[in-house]
Parts: sequence; C-alpha cells; structure tokens
Amino acid sequence: MNRRSFITGSLSRVAAASVASVPLLSSCAPAAPKKPDTKLNLCLQEGVCIGDSLQEKLDYMEAHGVTGIEVGGRGLAGRVDELNKALEGRNVRVSAICAGFDGFILSEDEAVKAQFDSTYREILQAAGQVGSCGVIIVPAFNGQQPCRPHTMDTRNYLCEQLHELGEFALKCGTTVILEPLNRAECFYMRLVSDAAAIARDCDSEGVKCMGDFWHMKEETSDYAAFMSAGTKYLQHVHVASRGRRIMPTEDGEKDNYVDGFRALKEMGYQGFVSFECGCEGDRNVVLPAALDLLRAQWEQA
Ligand code: MG
Repeated sequence: MNRRSFITGSLSRVAAASVASVPLLSSCAPAAPKKPDTKLNLCLQEGVCIGDSLQEKLDYMEAHGVTGIEVGGRGLAGRVDELNKALEGRNVRVSAICAGFDGFILSEDEAVKAQFDSTYREILQAAGQVGSCGVIIVPAFNGQQPCRPHTMDTRNYLCEQLHELGEFALKCGTTVILEPLNRAECFYMRLVSDAAAIARDCDSEGVKCMGDFWHMKEETSDYAAFMSAGTKYLQHVHVASRGRRIMPTEDGEKDNYVDGFRALKEMGYQGFVSFECGCEGDRNVVLPAALDLLRAQWEQA
C-alpha cells in the first residue's frame, strides 16, 4: 500500500465510523413528534386584562378563552381570600406570581438580604394558598447595589440560598421561578439555559425557570432555549411584542413565536403563556387580536 492509498483508505474508514457514531444534527433530523394533547394555555397579567374590577377581568378572560391570571406578589398575603373567592367555579386559575418582594437575594447588605428573605417567603406562602405554580424571581437587576460580585463563589452561594427557598416553596405547595432577563436589565442571568442550569444545580425540585419572549432576544434560538429547560425546569412563559414590548401583533412581522411554540408543543409543556406587555393601540381591539395571533401561530408550530 502506498502512502496515497493508505491515507485515502484511512479517511474513508474515519468517515464511515463518523457516520455510524455521530448522531444526526438536530437541523437534519426529522422533527420530533408533537404531543397531540399539548394545548396553548393563555394567561393575562392582571394589569394587562380589560376590566375595572377583578370580577370584570375574570369575566373578560372567560369570554375570550383565557384560563390563567398572573398577579403581582406585593400584598398577595392580603388578597388570598379575595382571589380564591373570585376564582371559585370559574375556568380561570392563578398562574405564576410576578415578583413583588423587597430587597434582593444577592445583596451584600445584610439588612437588604433579610428584607428579601422575609418578603419573598411571605409571598411563597400566599402563592401556595392561591394554587400558584411559582413566584418569579430575578437574582439581581443591574442597578441593585451593593451586589455580590459575578464570581463562582457567588453562583455557589446563589444555589445554596435557592435550595433553601426551593425546599420552603415545596412545603408551601409552590415553586421558585428564575426569570432570565436581557443584558440591559440583568447581566447576571440572561439565557433560559443559564437559568435552567442554576435550577438544576440548586438540587431542589422547588426551583424552576421560565422564558420571556421579550428578553429572549438574547437567545440565538427560541426553540433551543425552551428545549434546554425542558418540562423538568420550564415552569412559565411570558409573551410581549418583540420590537417594543407592547401587545403581540403591534410589532408586525417581528411578532413571530412559532419557533418557540414548536419547542413547547414538542416537549408537551403544560404551563401558561402569560401576557406581560404594554399596549399602544385600543386595548379592546388589540388584545383579542393578540390572542388570535398566538392561537394561529400555535397551530402553525
Ligand atoms: Mg417577564
């Protein structure tokens, strides 16, 4: 065998071995089967919905096929009875609780950290009492100071602290939901996969994550972002228009959620897709149009 035929032969053996052992790239692989029973569960934040009172808002939701309401965490303990009573016999339930606590978990100031611990735990307790799937938390917004430095020690500390909170949340019948934001708001945690990895490393079933289509402009792929969390960690989804964070449809062609929805359908996501957004036009016109758009894109995905 001369040198040329040795090299040619070796290369073809390497190529054959590669074909045999390397899995297909996901882009070449056939699409995963969609779970036929995966429904789009739509949800509105209380402030996004139309209506002057909670009852009117819930009436609006039921009339428009919206089955989830997301409320703020501030003052939630004082609203447990009001919410439970208003939801009795209705086809709407509380989804996630949106923040509302004081202080922040990565504060270097002990008083601020203590403020966080007491207020966040109080919201977790109330969240359990209204049947919520979890309380949304951002570890530290860019402007919150003094903050622990972005180091490995801080990440370990965060996981330890979240483990404690996750275990407490489970006792309350709810979870801690990490929300990654965009780099302008929270440099510390900005990818769904990053939040999912932190949730995993907390070693508590009570720590989950979410994705927000607005902040997910940080992602290279909506599909991959949701898939990286999977149903094990993905507990909630926020949606807004993708240009200006107003109502889906109001940013035209930018408002495409199909790639992300395809992942949610394939993984069999059972949580809510919740509106967290402003509104530029007439809400009476734009909100129903946004609900229609999401339903149409869910079908398309
Ligand atoms: Mg959000």
